[in-house]
Amino acid sequence: MRALYAAKLGGDAPLANLELGERPTPRPGPGEVCVRVLAATLNHHDYFTLRGIVGYPITPPRILGCDAAGIVESYGSEPPEGAPPEGSEVVVYSVRSCGHCRGCASGDFMLCRTFTMLSDGDREGSFAEYVIVPAGAVLPKPADLTFAQAAALGVTYLTAYRMLYTKARLRPGDSVLVQGASGGLATAAIQLGSASGLRVIASSRNADKLDFAKRLGARDTVVAGKDAAKAVLKITGGDGVDAVIESVGEPTWGTSLRAVRQGGTVVVAGATAGPNPPADLARIFWRQITIAGSTMGTPSEFAALVNFVEVAGIKPPIEKEYRLEDAAKAFERMAAGELLGKLAIVL
Ligand SMILES: [Zn+2]
Repeated sequence: MRALYAAKLGGDAPLANLELGERPTPRPGPGEVCVRVLAATLNHHDYFTLRGIVGYPITPPRILGCDAAGIVESYGSEPPEGAPPEGSEVVVYSVRSCGHCRGCASGDFMLCRTFTMLSDGDREGSFAEYVIVPAGAVLPKPADLTFAQAAALGVTYLTAYRMLYTKARLRPGDSVLVQGASGGLATAAIQLGSASGLRVIASSRNADKLDFAKRLGARDTVVAGKDAAKAVLKITGGDGVDAVIESVGEPTWGTSLRAVRQGGTVVVAGATAGPNPPADLARIFWRQITIAGSTMGTPSEFAALVNFVEVAGIKPPIEKEYRLEDAAKAFERMAAGELLGKLAIVL
């Protein structure tokens, strides 16, 4: 089958590690399903894999891609009860957990000590004609979404869902500051948040991105930078927001800590612009701020997300769809930053 893979990892020019070529067509084993991929979206995780900094242990060549939507090709054994039949349109749940460690036993499968995403560890990714996942890891695709839009749910929207509702425990009427207004994760948080009755405030340095955030449902926007926290305090009557969605890191961390209310929560699911800002510990304990790390989401969060998106009519914005042959251009676009929504690879 045709696939886009990392021929090697790391080095000074990570994009040069990308190759498009033939890889063996996989067969589903017992308890697995083979999905014919029609779309997958690009995630920072793919770029980090190319750079050799996530997903270990990985032995290249490794097919990239951590989310997918497509058609059920075949099950490797009797499918689970209620599983989508062969030939049906599905969206893929990307995480695999061990099911028996202490974290899994707690019921929160994202605390699994050895969880993997597609393209991590021993798993091939989804930038290929076929991908193998556990048989329970496919859900019917929301009918109103394109395959590219549905694929975006698997990593980006799932991550935003867990940040907003599980980690920050936000409820209708609560306020949330979403940092970095137009990237995939921020886009997802703005759309989900506003559709669920949150007061969403989006931040960016760029006026076009703030317009984009407004179109997605942000009620207010603030210009990122030294006056951003003051602007958020003004919007919230001096209190600060109930929660901050943080995935930028060093440039925005100070604002996140100053813009959150006393007793509020800063949820972190990335640090695309640097992972080591000053901690400002005095502010954290004195104002009793909770810092919550978050990554991906559980199977039940994914099922709730897919249902929510369908009921609320949410359509993830896809900035551009690329053919597999042009996927390197998508990586270049993402590496340059400045996205408005998601980039998708379609087959
Ligand atoms: Zn586990």
